[in-house]
Amino acid sequence: MPRWIMLCLSLLLAEATPGAEGQFVQLTGWGGGKPEEIVPQAAEVGFDEIIVWNHDPQYLGRLVALGRKHKIGIYSAIHLGDLKDWKKRRPGVNPPLQEMNAEENAALERIRADKTKGKSGYQYGGEPVHGIEVLEAPLLCFHHPEVRSFFEEQIRDLLRVPGLRGIAMDYFGYQNYRCCRCPTSLKAFETWHRQHADLPRDKALDRFSLETLVDFVNSLARYTRSVAAEAKVTCHVYPVFLPEPLYGNRLDVDFCGQTAAWYFDPLWSYEKIQSYTRVIRGEEKKYFSRPEGVAMIGVYTRPALYPVKSPERLTKELQAILDGQGDRVQVCSLNDVLKDPATRDVFRRLFRRGEAANGARAGEAAINPAKAGL
Ligand SMILES: [Zn+2]
Repeated sequence: MPRWIMLCLSLLLAEATPGAEGQFVQLTGWGGGKPEEIVPQAAEVGFDEIIVWNHDPQYLGRLVALGRKHKIGIYSAIHLGDLKDWKKRRPGVNPPLQEMNAEENAALERIRADKTKGKSGYQYGGEPVHGIEVLEAPLLCFHHPEVRSFFEEQIRDLLRVPGLRGIAMDYFGYQNYRCCRCPTSLKAFETWHRQHADLPRDKALDRFSLETLVDFVNSLARYTRSVAAEAKVTCHVYPVFLPEPLYGNRLDVDFCGQTAAWYFDPLWSYEKIQSYTRVIRGEEKKYFSRPEGVAMIGVYTRPALYPVKSPERLTKELQAILDGQGDRVQVCSLNDVLKDPATRDVFRRLFRRGEAANGARAGEAAINPAKAGL
């Protein structure tokens, strides 16, 4: 075959292959709402997947049915902050909660008492920009075996919904972004430290906390696959784990969302977004062959409460993700994207460009955003 024909063919293939450089192949939204409203709107923008926190089988059934019609996969999310369901499933049993030290509890009181807009630079579970921060929401301590069985029960129930694409995991982390200081966790740590006696105490606590967190998420992912082999597991790594913020590549899940562009002031620089994306995507298979790295972008369109990213800013953030070789994006929240026309247009332009021409889903024939006038 003449060389120029080969060249043309390979160029054509490169154009048609999902994930080729400079293209997005997947858009996932965290949100909720009436299925008959959100699903068609999300499809129109170019979403491929919706994650909801709702566990009601009837609601999920409706969402799955509509999702199927619009080629949108549905996940239901589980989270360590689910004290409501704990009370329902374990009436009369106190939830085993994570504990913090006096300094961290004082930070919690300060953050709770701060009623100013933006809470003096509080990052709500993202990387703190000044001082000690903790998550406002109390979290279950997963070093207790009964927390594991609680989540296994939830997973089993959720996977009874026919057609559900899988389980999403959020809020799997530490309230103080480092460790749990409850008696059960400290006892498990002392045992672990005796087996790793060469490590200084603070380094050992970081490693114990990371290893047990990763093992816990991976065991629930394995459990999900043992209940339904075809079920997928997706997640957002949150709240931040300060000793190693981008630890998500250690998770043996199908899609691992890690923060590439956070919500609040100071908004992340494009250099930071790009370099984080290089790790999220570039090192997605460092520990396991399964995971696809997903760049998470925070979007709120509620100016009374949070900073709003302009269409120009959002476009640049998404371009920085592309420049970091990111090909999958997770956005929270879906509803904030859908309700703001200018924000919706940015996502539609980047994720549905190829569709009008040939009717394919975004991703199967996404167009290089360079051609989309970026
Ligand atoms: Zn604990």
